[in-house]
Amino acid sequence: MKTIKDLEIEGKRVFIRCDFNVPKDENGNITDDRRIRSALQTIKYCIDRDCKIVLASHYERPEAGVYEEKFSLSPVAKRLHILLNMEKEIFMATDVIGEDAQAKAKALKAGEILLLENLRYEAGETSNDSDFAQTLAGFGEFYINDAFGACHRKHASIYAITEFFDLQHKAGGFLMSKEINFFSKVLENPVRPFVAVIGGSKISGKLEAMNKLVDKVDKIIIGGGMAFTFLKAQGHEIGTSLFEAHLVEEAKNIMQKAKNLGVKFYLPVDVVVADRFSENATVKFLPIQEIPEEWMGLDIGPASTRLFREALNDAQTIIWNGPMGVYEMDRYSKGSFSMSHTISQTHATTIVGGGDTADVVLQAGDADDMTFISTGGGASLKLIEGIALPGIEALCAK
Ligand code: AMP
Repeated sequence: MKTIKDLEIEGKRVFIRCDFNVPKDENGNITDDRRIRSALQTIKYCIDRDCKIVLASHYERPEAGVYEEKFSLSPVAKRLHILLNMEKEIFMATDVIGEDAQAKAKALKAGEILLLENLRYEAGETSNDSDFAQTLAGFGEFYINDAFGACHRKHASIYAITEFFDLQHKAGGFLMSKEINFFSKVLENPVRPFVAVIGGSKISGKLEAMNKLVDKVDKIIIGGGMAFTFLKAQGHEIGTSLFEAHLVEEAKNIMQKAKNLGVKFYLPVDVVVADRFSENATVKFLPIQEIPEEWMGLDIGPASTRLFREALNDAQTIIWNGPMGVYEMDRYSKGSFSMSHTISQTHATTIVGGGDTADVVLQAGDADDMTFISTGGGASLKLIEGIALPGIEALCAK
């Protein structure tokens, strides 16, 4: 993949696809602006080269054709202005490819920035429509994709648009290069011991990634809801905990594969169980052998935390994807926060993937102590799986 540094963009019109899909609270305030900050390097590079810059992103899932304010990117324009510390205003289009966007793009001067409205206000974005992509392509002489978190989707601004640029006019931005380099370097040539910590709700979304990781790592640590399918596969009773019955065989296969390859496989040895899925439930800390029939496991217990810490002690490379419990509720967040502290305190290269996991790390105050926090959950899993991301493939296509 070419990067922006390989292109002659000096003084040109540049269209940059960013991922500004940031979380906001009920009042519309941005609660975590990491995705905006991650795009700054590419944007500043273009400002320094006197480009006329058009930025585009999706934001959540509005109904196409309905311009609802809560899905507007205008808070992003304001935050971007603050982060770039620019005197000049950042122009915000009131539409995506309509009259306002076209007029404002035309009026851009060197070093100025226009942000288009939420790409998903237009139906053509998610349907990868070629006409819509062509109109978007008209905003730039160069196309830069810095939206790693959206690269696993065949959407117009990621995929169809690349057809309108040759290899001298399209490339990945700095964030994109960083994401790819981190994952490929670690997966191709990890410093060992290499440990994968996998959590989250279900095995189903992570099955392929787990299968790939077993081939590469020295140890696998499993937590979160997905641990219960593995525990059940080992013959434990798991009460009403999350369970994917159709994946019991897969779970057995992964454990067998790990055994054959000499990969150490760690499951929780104790859990926090609750009598219902609620912050106000009655809870107990129990060994996994003692989960009562009507109770559900919502976090790993203290013994598991200690066990996992021991297993991570000598790690040189750690990939972490998925929380250890229902961290959104305080009572079941301890396992995830402890995991975050443990990983951040190791001397290993630490790579965090997935929106929830990044959220845990941020809330735990450990973000600065991780080597790299990926901005794309689904996209980073696909990289681990070794599947070419459509957005990256399209950037490389002639
Ligand atoms: P994922 O998107 O697969 O990474 O899953 C993240 C979600 O898994 C979070 O919203 C957690 O609340 C949820 N989760 C983690 N552990 C459990 C559990 N033991 N039971 C139910 N949900 C869980």
